[in-house]
Amino acid sequence: MDSIGDAEIVVIGGGGVGCGVTHSLCRAGKTDVLLIEKNEALASETTSQAAGLVGQVRTSVDRVKLAMWSVKAFSEMESEPEAKPGWRQVGSLRIAMTDERVTEFESMKLVADEAGLKTEFISNDEARIKWPMFDFSTAKSVLWCPSDGYLQPNDLAMSYAHRARRHGARIATGVTVEGIRTENGSVTGVITNHGTINCNTVINAAGAHAWHVAKMGGLDLPIFPVRHEYFVSVDAEGMHPELPVMRVPDASLYLRAEINGLLLGGWEPEALSINPNDFNNGQTPPRIEDDWEVMGWFIEQIAPLYSKASELGVRSIFKGWPTFVPDGRFIIGESQKLKGFVMAGGCNAHGVSGSAGIGQHVVESMLEPEPSPYVKSLSPDRFLEKNWNANAAKTSAKQIYETYYGLGS
Ligand SMILES: Cc1cc2nc3c(=O)[nH]c(=O)nc-3n(C[C@H](O)[C@H](O)[C@H](O)COP(=O)(O)OP(=O)(O)OC[C@H]3O[C@@H](n4cnc5c(N)ncnc54)[C@H](O)[C@@H]3O)c2cc1C
Repeated sequence: MDSIGDAEIVVIGGGGVGCGVTHSLCRAGKTDVLLIEKNEALASETTSQAAGLVGQVRTSVDRVKLAMWSVKAFSEMESEPEAKPGWRQVGSLRIAMTDERVTEFESMKLVADEAGLKTEFISNDEARIKWPMFDFSTAKSVLWCPSDGYLQPNDLAMSYAHRARRHGARIATGVTVEGIRTENGSVTGVITNHGTINCNTVINAAGAHAWHVAKMGGLDLPIFPVRHEYFVSVDAEGMHPELPVMRVPDASLYLRAEINGLLLGGWEPEALSINPNDFNNGQTPPRIEDDWEVMGWFIEQIAPLYSKASELGVRSIFKGWPTFVPDGRFIIGESQKLKGFVMAGGCNAHGVSGSAGIGQHVVESMLEPEPSPYVKSLSPDRFLEKNWNANAAKTSAKQIYETYYGLGS
């Protein structure tokens, strides 16, 4: 490989987040950017496995606005003639099966209203028109968000990369970052298996390896990979790509159509998490075997709404190690402990849908003299100011996964 060359900013990790951040930097006028990916292809780790759901209904206004920014970006990219992210704005249904959930939806709707996101409660009959194969007779309420949807995560990463390249960003694949070079408390470069690259800013978008890369900069951050999986069925009657996305939080499930099959996933109550030091920098995270018991549990959970799920054959299982952090919030921005070291991680399984909003917030944290209180609150320093206990942090991060659709999460 020829010499890679120096850059003002090096982004480590070519998944959805790293590609999204690179694109956002370019849009903000920062084009001397080099994206480094250890694998031969972009988006070949967690991002390649994602279901691509993009949901904007959240429990805080800031979080809704971040998701709305992503949706705006996806719509713009999809409207352009080339390198489309495969964005389908099919809307989403959120189904409440209990009274407590109805109350939660009511408060989520108020949050959405405040953020300027259009949502509405629809009747069970209206829901049936949108998903005719489902039985909504036991639903207690249905919240409809017309601007939600889904996309193809790989296409999204390629779409960001294409646009970033057009602005002048460079991308080096098959290159592993092995160390961060610093001087007087500031980043001066990254050390790779293809030599040292001078830079004054490093952005850590290394996904399941974000803990390793943070350690290279002397930062110990509680970022824990937690196993997540879903399946896609063989073709099923009535399934087509224009069906809305559906979430059934009381059953801990999400679903959509994948072409003419059913994509069904969820958050099992006993999750499997690992310590990031169980694998090394430069390796892929541990291999995940297909867990048929969990797939069976998803099918049982959906049965009251869709009894035919048990008759469907499974075509493929997708799985990976999204990262979770103890407070369930993104980790975004520069650390005061190391000037020029910027985080873009701790995605809590929102890294694909959040990627454009994360990119925008990273840019805000770097370029705005006074970032918003929300952006400041996502700083990595919230964990570095106090010593965290690894076991307790891992347990909390796992609980964030297990209660992903818990009331008020
Ligand atoms: C089954 C499943 C379903 C999901 N569904 C959704 C969904 O519907 N919606 C959603 O928003 N999210 C979803 N997620 C979560 C989403 O996939 C992640 O949040 C997102 O992909 C994280 O992107 P990333 O770029 O941070 O990580 P990754 O995609 O893992 O990218 C990180 C990259 O960094 C590279 N890297 C690491 N270390 C180094 C190094 N030292 N040097 C160079 N390169 C390095 C890696 O090779 C990797 O390519 C799902 C995840 C799974 C597993």
